[in-house]
Amino acid sequence: MWETCQTYEHAELEDGLFLDEVQAENCTAANWTALREQLIAPRAPLVRVRESCNGVSQVIQEAASNGCHTLPQAAGASFVDVPIGKAVTLHAAGDCTGDSVTVDTDTNLCETSFGSGASANDQVRSFRVQDVEVLPSAHRYDCAGDESTCVKNNNNASKLGAINTKHTVKVVRIALDGRTTPALSTIQNTIRGVYRDFAVASRGQVSLEFTGSQTVQVTSSNCTTAKNQARQKANSSAFLTVFVLPGGMCSTSNAGSRSVFLKGTLARDYAHEIGHVLGLAHSNVRDPSTGQVRSSADSSSFMSTFSADNYNLPQLHWLGWTKKEELVGINSAIDNNGSTEVTLRPVGTNDDSTSSLPLGAVWEIPGTDQRLFIAVPKPRLNGTNQIEGGTVFAYRAPKCVGCTGMAMGTMQMARFGPKSVNEHEASGLFLKPVGYTSSFVQEGGKSVEVFTSVTLRIRK
Ligand SMILES: [Zn+2]
Repeated sequence: MWETCQTYEHAELEDGLFLDEVQAENCTAANWTALREQLIAPRAPLVRVRESCNGVSQVIQEAASNGCHTLPQAAGASFVDVPIGKAVTLHAAGDCTGDSVTVDTDTNLCETSFGSGASANDQVRSFRVQDVEVLPSAHRYDCAGDESTCVKNNNNASKLGAINTKHTVKVVRIALDGRTTPALSTIQNTIRGVYRDFAVASRGQVSLEFTGSQTVQVTSSNCTTAKNQARQKANSSAFLTVFVLPGGMCSTSNAGSRSVFLKGTLARDYAHEIGHVLGLAHSNVRDPSTGQVRSSADSSSFMSTFSADNYNLPQLHWLGWTKKEELVGINSAIDNNGSTEVTLRPVGTNDDSTSSLPLGAVWEIPGTDQRLFIAVPKPRLNGTNQIEGGTVFAYRAPKCVGCTGMAMGTMQMARFGPKSVNEHEASGLFLKPVGYTSSFVQEGGKSVEVFTSVTLRIRK
């Protein structure tokens, strides 16, 4: 299916949406064309008001735009879906007046009170949708007109504000007679580990707070049915809800709007699915000699099926985890001089650094809505990443103006060592390493080379 339909051309088709449709058996040869159109159509994130205290109950009303929306008289609202980046103020009277409460995650109204202390369940008459407030940060920047090397982040500012904060996380263990689900403590330890990595990579912007956990009993061993039963019972109000599946029930893990479904406790699977919730798509690899694409094969990103230990640079940038001076746009230098030289430091864990060297060079590919990120993912080989220190990667990524959902997918276009003597082509550029700095450390009786920089000559 992936090869035939070239779903990798459309990040929106991967994992979440696409998988949901396949599992619902909507993906057949006969309706594929129509389904594809429907799936790749850009969709505004919707606020949805529902009639029962769970996120799968009947939708009473939905709203795509900011502003005040009035519910039908006595609609009996009991749950509200709030997309990442939006805040919703629920009011007890019409025209957004009267007693109120503001929420910025999906919210179960059976457990929510207005400012006065009165229950909000069945009492909401109107609601106001707004962008969440964004505070200034070194990691959320604008590019001024004369900053020719500035690389703009087209991710929505209020979404960046909503992502880069404390995440409230609820764990839901799904139990089924005759099958085994990992223990709650094991699940929580995995999540803590993932968020320790996020805290480093996000420069302390992202943190974790567990807001409760529960085990829900399901009665069906059918993957789709069991997930729906679990969602119905979870009635979660959290930034993220982590559902953990019994062994052998579903063939893959997957992600929805604010939920992830995991079929084990492998940390990189959690980072992969949470990455989807945060707006990332898959990291693919294109063979430079044959043009053949391998899905999710980029080992420098969690958004692959490989043993990775971070997201890749285009994704770190999209999440707002890099500063302005850490990426350098090279279009004007190349347009003016035909070539340029850049010295990059390795990304590694993306921890904060006092180095003045940038993490990446970025080429806006002329005539397209794509850009090429050139980076050095790892300072050294480690047991997880299987990428030699100093290796240079070139990734093609969308500029993603107006993107929503699982948008930031990448395509690895070139990969070569820091001591390569050849030029390597990627998206119309020729890259050649011309220098590096490194030192050796002894480890387990072996000498390991640790790179601190790689210098590249880049020409058209
Ligand atoms: Zn995925």
